[in-house]
Amino acid sequence: AKAERLDALLSRLGLTSRADAARFIAERVVTTDGARATERATSGKLKARAADVRVDGETLEDVDGLLIVMHKARGVVCSHDVREGTSVYDALPERWRRRKPSIESVGRLDKDTSGLLLLTDDGALVHALTTPKKEIGKWYRVKTDRPIPRDAVEVFASGELTLDGETRACKPAVCELMDDETEARLRLTEGKFHQVKRMFAFFGCTVIGLHRESFGSLTLERAGVSEPGDFKTLPLDFDFSEE
Ligand code: URA
Repeated sequence: AKAERLDALLSRLGLTSRADAARFIAERVVTTDGARATERATSGKLKARAADVRVDGETLEDVDGLLIVMHKARGVVCSHDVREGTSVYDALPERWRRRKPSIESVGRLDKDTSGLLLLTDDGALVHALTTPKKEIGKWYRVKTDRPIPRDAVEVFASGELTLDGETRACKPAVCELMDDETEARLRLTEGKFHQVKRMFAFFGCTVIGLHRESFGSLTLERAGVSEPGDFKTLPLDFDFSEE
């Protein structure tokens, strides 16, 4: 990581705004390489690496980026637009919400979908985790308004189902029907807009309950976020590959 202006660094990591950086440094004990910074540090002369900075003796965690796993509750949106209602970002600590680059969800879950959602401030990681090329499997639990036709399993597996408005067919998806004919588990390796709902709509079924159980090797249970609203950080190099 590069050395950067101390005021820029503190505001980028969400500790203070750039305008309030001088006051923050005066009120708190900010050290770089063990030496205490004074307000003059904000004039731009002092450059520091985030890993060498301590605030009140504490290292700044997550200086290289953040990866968060959240159990998204039904009814919250994956959006920064306040007009859309309570968002997944509202649950995060203020300091994380002020970070730049901002924390974004890795793909989106619909407002009425619950389950495993990843969030990160690392744009390259978003790409690596969402590109269909990597074929990371995501399992969904689906509840429909009527019995799911048995043919759906074969059609979903075929890789030949092209949804309305799409030019490319859906990649082969594993579908397991449950004893209750209005329930299924579905494994996707991509994330087209409203994909699960549109796949079942192809068979005349309306999805009335949708929950994502896993993202690659990571399940809600394994992540330790079993309650809606729970979240945790993961190492940036977490291995999502399934064995
Ligand atoms: N497919 C959907 O239709 N909605 C989701 O939230 C996720 C996948």
